[in-house]
Amino acid sequence: MKKTGELYAGKAKTVYTTDDPALLVLEFRNDTSAFDGEKMEQLERKGQVNNQFNAFIMKALQQAGIATHFVDQLSTNESLVRNLDMIPVECVVRNRAAGSLVRRLGIEEGKELVPAIFEFFLKNDALHDPMINDSHIATFGWASEQEVAAMKALTLQVNDVLTQLFADGGMVLVDYKLEFGRFNGDIVLGDEFSPDGCRLWDARTGEKMDKDRFRQNLGNVIESYEEVGRRIGIEFQS
Ligand code: ADP
Ligand code: UDP
Repeated sequence: MKKTGELYAGKAKTVYTTDDPALLVLEFRNDTSAFDGEKMEQLERKGQVNNQFNAFIMKALQQAGIATHFVDQLSTNESLVRNLDMIPVECVVRNRAAGSLVRRLGIEEGKELVPAIFEFFLKNDALHDPMINDSHIATFGWASEQEVAAMKALTLQVNDVLTQLFADGGMVLVDYKLEFGRFNGDIVLGDEFSPDGCRLWDARTGEKMDKDRFRQNLGNVIESYEEVGRRIGIEFQS
């Protein structure tokens, strides 16, 4: 397998084509962005930490029977993935109130949400990723009814697996974002799962261990990502 060209450079990852049209290489960069790209910084080791974190989580999800795009980790900061036809929506699950839910509905941060809340957002930075629902997705043809049902079911299945995995490491999985795509007619989990796209709090102290450390200038961003990884059993290579 050989990289053949750059397909797309996103805010945090670069996507490369390979000599196999069904496979892509994802390169995780140190670039870190928040507020739809308004705040941008380079954080040393972030690319390699998130690549190895994502590889660990994708393997755990695959073991739990959830289809993902992940094929293999190629290097400290690159992974081989299936080439998905990405669906332009973000699937968010919330177990505790935080972030935009608090701002939108005035709910107290940290409130337990039972049952967990599921939300769709349109993946569009220029429009600041607006919240959408099944009806928008159907009318604008972003995904079929069956695909919407599959994305919801898979996102909630991921919640069962990861809530337990992080709880075992003494952390609360507050919320997270997933992206899905189509591969041979199936809905498959794509993109990444890392502390860049979720909220994790220390179960005892409530300390924030995720990208909110970057958003809120709390410091020790990557050190916290590494601590989360170590607690769930990742041995990071550099
Ligand atoms: P963004 O596009 O939000 O700036 P990234 O920097 O993470 O995000 O870029 C990665 C891009 O690759 C995203 O647009 C994502 O939807 C896309 N992507 C992730 N996984 C796959 C995949 N398996 N196949 C095709 N595209 C993918
Ligand atoms: N999230 C993400 N990418 C986005 C928007 C949200 O990874 O473009 C994640 C975010 O890190 C959090 C969850 O999705 O874990 C819910 O985000 P929220 O709607 O609260 O938005 P925020 O306040 O984080 O912008």
